[in-house]
Amino acid sequence: MAAAPARRRTAAAVVIVGAGVTGLLTAVGCALAGHRVTVLDRGAIPNPQSSSFDQHRVIRTLSPDGADATRRMIAARHRWRELETLLGTRLHRPVGVVTAWPRERLAELTAPAAEAGVRVRTVEPWTLPHLEFPPDSTGVMDEAAGVLLAERVLHAAARWLAAHPAVTLRPYCAVTGIDADSGKVRVADGERTGADLVLLAAGPWTRELAGPPVVLHRQTMVYLRPPPDAARWWEQAPAAGGLGTDGRAWAVPPGAGTLLKISSDAVRREVDTTADCEAEDQAPWAERLAAAPPLTGLHRYTVVAVKPCHYTSDADTGGPLLARVGPAVWSRAACGGSGFSAAPLVADRIVDVLREGAA
Ligand SMILES: Cc1cc2nc3c(=O)[nH]c(=O)nc-3n(C[C@H](O)[C@H](O)[C@H](O)COP(=O)(O)OP(=O)(O)OC[C@H]3O[C@@H](n4cnc5c(N)ncnc54)[C@H](O)[C@@H]3O)c2cc1C
Repeated sequence: MAAAPARRRTAAAVVIVGAGVTGLLTAVGCALAGHRVTVLDRGAIPNPQSSSFDQHRVIRTLSPDGADATRRMIAARHRWRELETLLGTRLHRPVGVVTAWPRERLAELTAPAAEAGVRVRTVEPWTLPHLEFPPDSTGVMDEAAGVLLAERVLHAAARWLAAHPAVTLRPYCAVTGIDADSGKVRVADGERTGADLVLLAAGPWTRELAGPPVVLHRQTMVYLRPPPDAARWWEQAPAAGGLGTDGRAWAVPPGAGTLLKISSDAVRREVDTTADCEAEDQAPWAERLAAAPPLTGLHRYTVVAVKPCHYTSDADTGGPLLARVGPAVWSRAACGGSGFSAAPLVADRIVDVLREGAA
């Protein structure tokens, strides 16, 4: 039987590459656990170019992947509540998330919810008149879910870290390579820096530094202002998925100064690189989204912006992936499509690794 790893009694030195939500929340977790943390980002901290930097992101507790995945997201939701208290800022709009689901397959979604103890209720499409439900579907409302105010999260975490004596933030400090065996991180000016644990949390760009193969996805999002007669309805509306005539579209409601955002799996595509993104014309993708939108009367809404965004998924499972790529090097190789809301779970895992003395 293998000996249990020695428990770490002293503060570890932790280097985190990337100051998106994963890097920032992991830095918060490590600092709270008493470790010394350095966060490197090639841009500002927070960086408007990161994939986390958006008005909002959805947090679901109910996962269509079953009861275990649902329990994990309940734990993440709990962490977000604690973060709100720690950071002293409201980060979450508890509006719920409704998923349109085929009526005859309702039990597939509600059974894991009951098993994991998540509060759900079914809602009839006519009660949510501005949402476009697919034919023969009904809604499953995940009541503890809602919308995370993403930019606010990043700014609040960065402020907290900047004020913490054991944390060093190094903006405009691009990492050009990592030696997975020694754990040495190479910075653009030639400096090499090491640590007891290194986390690569460079979002869709992590794959350029290290880690197992992942698939890069690009998705177009359209930001809208509702017409005046629907504005009040939207202020109370839940986030929603499984919408549109094809059941692939989703909507994130406006509120707390944010716009309404819509997109669809139908406008998600696999790409080789993020580099050609600015040159890509988003208009054809926005038109494709408009062909099966998540809401009714789209022509009455004002388009404020159209933006692409990237995320990566595990090449084998299609989901997220946190991998150990060297004795002391961990890689958030794939964030998956729920990487923002799941970021506290990565932070917990890294803190556990340090506690177990396994890095
Ligand atoms: C269209 C779309 C919708 C989404 N909706 C949701 C949602 O509703 N809910 C949800 O939970 N998730 C959602 N996601 C996923 C989520 O946005 C991401 O998983 C998450 O934001 C990733 O955060 P991150 O911190 O890992 O990476 P990022 O936020 O991308 O941060 C990576 C950081 O690393 C820095 N960096 C990169 N390379 C280097 C380098 N070489 N040296 C130094 N720094 C570097 C970057 O500047 C950046 O600041 C969505 C994604 C997309 C594309």
